[in-house]
Amino acid sequence: MSTPTSAPSPQPPRLRVAPSPTGDPHVGTAYMSLFNLAFARRHGGQFVLRVEDTDRARFRADSEAQLYDTLHWLGVTWDEGPDLGGPYAPYRQSERLETYGPIIERLRAEGKAYYCWCSSERLAQMREEQQKSKQSATGYDRMCLGKTAQERAALPGFSDTPVVRMLVPDDVELTFTDLIRGTMSAPRPDDQVIRKADGFPTYHLAVVVDDHEMGITHVVRGEEWISSTPKHRLLYRQLGWPEPAWVHMPLLRNADRSKISKRKNPAAALTWFREQGYLPEALVNFLCLLGYPPIIEADGSEREVLTFDEFVAGFDFAKVNPVGPIFDIKKLDWLNGVKIRELTPQELASRLLPFLQEAGVLSSNPSLGELARLAKVSALIQPRLVKLSDAAVLVAPFYVADDAVPIAQDARAGLAEDAAAVLDAGIAALEGVPADEEDLLASTPRWNHEAIESALRAALVEEMGLKPKFAFGPLRTAISGQRVSPPLFESMEILGRCSTLKRLRTLRACR
Ligand code: GLU
Repeated sequence: MSTPTSAPSPQPPRLRVAPSPTGDPHVGTAYMSLFNLAFARRHGGQFVLRVEDTDRARFRADSEAQLYDTLHWLGVTWDEGPDLGGPYAPYRQSERLETYGPIIERLRAEGKAYYCWCSSERLAQMREEQQKSKQSATGYDRMCLGKTAQERAALPGFSDTPVVRMLVPDDVELTFTDLIRGTMSAPRPDDQVIRKADGFPTYHLAVVVDDHEMGITHVVRGEEWISSTPKHRLLYRQLGWPEPAWVHMPLLRNADRSKISKRKNPAAALTWFREQGYLPEALVNFLCLLGYPPIIEADGSEREVLTFDEFVAGFDFAKVNPVGPIFDIKKLDWLNGVKIRELTPQELASRLLPFLQEAGVLSSNPSLGELARLAKVSALIQPRLVKLSDAAVLVAPFYVADDAVPIAQDARAGLAEDAAAVLDAGIAALEGVPADEEDLLASTPRWNHEAIESALRAALVEEMGLKPKFAFGPLRTAISGQRVSPPLFESMEILGRCSTLKRLRTLRACR
């Protein structure tokens, strides 16, 4: 009896991101990684990181480490890559040259590619003439096609080291299916160079060979590659390899709809977000919403605040809107604030710590007391914080000597005539609020923000008849040195009675 055969289960998908290490990692690389990763995770597949470093002129040695660093910071994980290895190693194209050589040779031997000895001067001249004569067929004029080196050497513009070009046939297919965009068509490709004079393959050859060899099932990349897809599909056809599915993500745009570039926009570099104090989970949330709808709740309402796991759970390329999404930093600021408020004060404190150390507010080796205070101060500033880098100026006053609080110029200038009288009354009022150690048996702390507030309100607002703004301004200046500071009474509670009084007396002494 024969056993019934079940239908073969489809292979889990394999996706990749393939950045070129040419400088600070671009925010587009993170965007592409998240969408690739979401599909791979949703369907139980794998996600590969491949480094495309065949462009030796633009190569930057430190860029690969920065790439790992920023992607790890974002929480992007990959299953195979140059740093992890994997069944298809190496994952760095410069280490795969032996793979490309025989394939280029095979295409050449089969008449699907040919040597080209044209010098760059000759190619420039050819292009200039094509432009002048407004020729409809532009691109390489095939001067070298069918010639031996000797035959070609007899003609002008010869260079000793040839490149290899694809021979694009007349019937090259120009339409293809894109999982986001449906049927697409692209212009007829030029006889693209596939091996450069330095012996390195070009991106076009290497990307096809590697995607094939690494078993990539879905090529997900930026829309700038749409025009290259017919070339890549031609190579798959000529090499007799099965084609992957094609997905071209929209390009991220500035508010004026121009393309986000590292030259024009600091936010194009991934490192910028970290330096600015954006939380990785806020940036991930923000990127997941670019060209992608928010979560629809059971009651039909929309929710934009989401986690990557929630994004993965409903992920579908068909939901991507191909119209270039606007990179709106204000929205990121809003999301960052929301994610900051989702942290526990303790967690916020540990995220703030490196920023405070960088700003010199705390040393590289803070004491336990300083850290305990930081958790309290973090809770205080949490409701208003937009970026982690905004915290230093708010936190700094909690870590200075009480008789040396730096007073900002605008705060000093804002002190009115009656500042001395206000400070005197404030000091007297607070002297009446007992310190905790004076009443160890009390069940709640005596020096707390409510007691502080009611003592000060009674003395300054009720008795002196001051408006709260004028009553508390000088006290705020004494405590923080700033016109704008974390909530005053809570700040006094954190500083403690002794420090608070000392700060008030110090400012009073200079009036
Ligand atoms: N190395 C290319 C880039 O950096 C990858 C394009 C692709 O994913 O095919 O944009």
